[in-house]
Amino acid sequence: MENIIWTWLEHENGELAESGLEILGEARKLGNSLKAQVQAFICGENTQEAAAQAIRYGADVIYTAGDSIFQAYCPEACLAALAQRAAQTPRIVLISGTRNGAGLAPRIATRFQWGYLANVVKVAPQEDGSLKINTETYQAKVNNTYIFSAKQTVVLVLQPGSIGVGKADKKRSGAVQLLEPLQEMRDRIEVVGFIKADPRSVSLNDAERVVAGGNGFRNQEEFGILQEFADALGAAVGSSKPIADKGWVPYNRLVGQSSGRRLAPDLFVSVGISGATHFVEGMKDSRLIMAINKDKGAPMMKEADLAVVGDLHEILPEVTRRIMALRGEGEGHEQ
Ligand SMILES: Cc1cc2nc3c(=O)[nH]c(=O)nc-3n(C[C@H](O)[C@H](O)[C@H](O)COP(=O)(O)OP(=O)(O)OC[C@H]3O[C@@H](n4cnc5c(N)ncnc54)[C@H](O)[C@@H]3O)c2cc1C
Repeated sequence: MENIIWTWLEHENGELAESGLEILGEARKLGNSLKAQVQAFICGENTQEAAAQAIRYGADVIYTAGDSIFQAYCPEACLAALAQRAAQTPRIVLISGTRNGAGLAPRIATRFQWGYLANVVKVAPQEDGSLKINTETYQAKVNNTYIFSAKQTVVLVLQPGSIGVGKADKKRSGAVQLLEPLQEMRDRIEVVGFIKADPRSVSLNDAERVVAGGNGFRNQEEFGILQEFADALGAAVGSSKPIADKGWVPYNRLVGQSSGRRLAPDLFVSVGISGATHFVEGMKDSRLIMAINKDKGAPMMKEADLAVVGDLHEILPEVTRRIMALRGEGEGHEQ
């Protein structure tokens, strides 16, 4: 085993994703503590800027796999890229627990027969060289501690957002190396195109926009205006628990702690929802939160970046009409 830390970094439009910057910060910290080299893998075309960014955020060596196969996320191809460097067994593999990262990490552990831990929130090297690792489960209600010996390679999936992004160091230098073309993968996999997900059927976890309705709606028929609003916005519909309990939406549309998931869409709009902690737990990581409630003192209004006080029956149809008009699909065709 070599004194090396591997990371696998996601990027978009040539820039590293926030999850990648975060993982690099942690890798650098561990690298300094263990005197280990941080090696980062970036799969995709046009990754020069992402590679330079990775160096500024803590990587010593970047391996880029610039294959057209990476137009889409392809875990098998990423694994094949990593395998090119596997003659030097790393000590630790750090992967961010994004949807893609969480898919790749167990594949790495299985392929190379390395240890594996998910939901990691803290990694602390010990004096004897072992690693003390903390994970969280049951929505952070249970904290577990594991010790991995210094002799064992371990793949660690860090919870995105658990550490935060560190600072870039413009003076850092590093090496960038291009990996071999993945011909074998190209023979097996061809990206033929992309199909945009339908917000009506996409899982709430994957939706970029979510609008959720609560007890402010008086009956199921009325709840239909929320769907119209969601359609106009290109958003998925969710609900608070009373609505799911009444059967107006299936339970896979439930938002909150009972759903067992934390949503983090770009936009979350709550309509007629009071904002009980049970509900807020499931959506507070959303990037932008908007709340519509007739009670300005409702807890949800304090959670919101934009709080609109008023009757949802007046506000929703009007906002829907305006969005449709802006999109050129409504009667008004306003711009
Ligand atoms: C163990 C446990 C687990 C739970 N898990 C969950 C969970 O996962 N998810 C969840 O949602 N709940 C959960 N709950 C229930 C939770 O505590 C709340 O009771 C629930 O979230 C309330 O739903 P609500 O906000 O839709 O309803 P309410 O609390 O009744 O709020 C309705 C809101 O609508 C507003 N309103 C009313 N009329 C209008 C109108 N015309 N225009 C605008 N606003 C209006 C009101 O001002 C009010 O703020 C759980 C409870 C327990 C005990």
